[in-house]
Amino acid sequence: MTVRVRFAPSPTGNLHIGTLRAALFNWLFAKAKKGTFVLRIEDTDRERSKPEFETNIYDGLKWLGFTPDEGPLEGGDFGPYRQSERIEQGVYHDIADRLIKEGKAYYCFLTDEDIQREKESAIKKGIPYVHSRKSSEMSESEIKNCLSEGKPYAIRFKMTEDKIITFKDSVRQTIEFDCSLISDFVLMKSDGTPSYNFAVVVDDALMAITHVIRGEDHISNMPRQLSLYEALGYKVPEFAHLPMILGPDKSKLSKRHGATAVTEYRDQGFLKESFMNYLALLGWSPKDEQELLSEDELVSQFDLDRVHKSGAVFDIKKLVWMNGQYIRQISDSQFSTLLRSYLSEDYQQKLSLLTEEKQHLALFSVRDNLDVLSDINTYIDVFLETESDYDSKSKDIVLNDDQRTVLSSFLSLSKECKSSEEFMGCLNSICESLSLGKGKVFKPVRLAVTARQSGPFIGDVLAFFGVDRLRERIQRCL
Ligand code: GLU
Repeated sequence: MTVRVRFAPSPTGNLHIGTLRAALFNWLFAKAKKGTFVLRIEDTDRERSKPEFETNIYDGLKWLGFTPDEGPLEGGDFGPYRQSERIEQGVYHDIADRLIKEGKAYYCFLTDEDIQREKESAIKKGIPYVHSRKSSEMSESEIKNCLSEGKPYAIRFKMTEDKIITFKDSVRQTIEFDCSLISDFVLMKSDGTPSYNFAVVVDDALMAITHVIRGEDHISNMPRQLSLYEALGYKVPEFAHLPMILGPDKSKLSKRHGATAVTEYRDQGFLKESFMNYLALLGWSPKDEQELLSEDELVSQFDLDRVHKSGAVFDIKKLVWMNGQYIRQISDSQFSTLLRSYLSEDYQQKLSLLTEEKQHLALFSVRDNLDVLSDINTYIDVFLETESDYDSKSKDIVLNDDQRTVLSSFLSLSKECKSSEEFMGCLNSICESLSLGKGKVFKPVRLAVTARQSGPFIGDVLAFFGVDRLRERIQRCL
């Protein structure tokens, strides 16, 4: 069997973390099984679906390299891959018609008010609401009359009553549903668009999807979808429902926990390698609990049987830590190219005035300080500011007596220094002569030469500015 999986986002908002995690697990599964990764755009909600959100979805997929094998832009033998286009082709309409003819669905002329009344009456009686199925008892001529009068209608599916539906999820145990409490549900709405449950089953079947991998919030849709598979005589795919992604307070991850849109993470300077790695661990773990996994390792180790059942907490601190690890790990040329793209225009301009060697020093000296690549803009100004910028910052420095002693001893000791090696040697010998730890010596020197409490390694700053300029700054600071 050739594995065919699909990622089926609705373009009603920017691609968010939970949705991208579903894309990743589908993509990994397809790669691991040498299968096909299909992108289907579920844009049946005409009002909320927007082309810019589809673009944002593509942007997120492109960033991580999840190129669909089939999709709206890629084409394929099972298209169209946008549900709006499938509506235009009459795909859902024709199948709903077939179900009516077979007595498995019916026209429902009840208005919203009628349904509201039914619900209120159920509440009064203290019983759970189940749709009354009134319209299904209409005679053929009554239906014809209503249709010719142009009365609005929906097409509803007749749920099998008194039936227990069971299914085995690849992530969970067997799950059971009692159908007697499930109302006849809408297949086609009065505006001629299909409901989610109907469109998803029709499309998954017609696109020959073998495995449906999606969020566990869709488990409650299973009795409806499985009933449809049965009524339509379609082969049922395997299902894997992924655990929810939670915020640190264990509630469903949402905007109030911070950025949820994937492109915001890209724009802050998270690397695709770390983002993919971190996302893969949200609800899945490899056999040996290894944390840093390359794309190839993820593909070779991924399987559905190691997907967790319980919710996965999105921990931004861990993602930031992981990103730092990858920033130090990627190749120098990848680092340099990527980092430059995160520099503000002003800094790009200033950097371009430096020699190649100094540009390299400025960019690479802050590598260990970066959590995300856009941090470059808070560190690099040490190298790009003018002497008068430095002066105005250093005016606010307050040195204590010990720090003054360190700086004065350092100035007298470094008089003869010519090279940066000698200069660093001086720093180390001061630690010894004054019996001070490195921090106590390096900190005032850093403060005096950069007017900052933290930043790049002092040896790099020295190599950039040279001995004379640094001695002069210390002098001025004192
Ligand atoms: N469009 C649905 C969603 O974004 C797809 C659900 C599914 O994968 O079945 O939630």
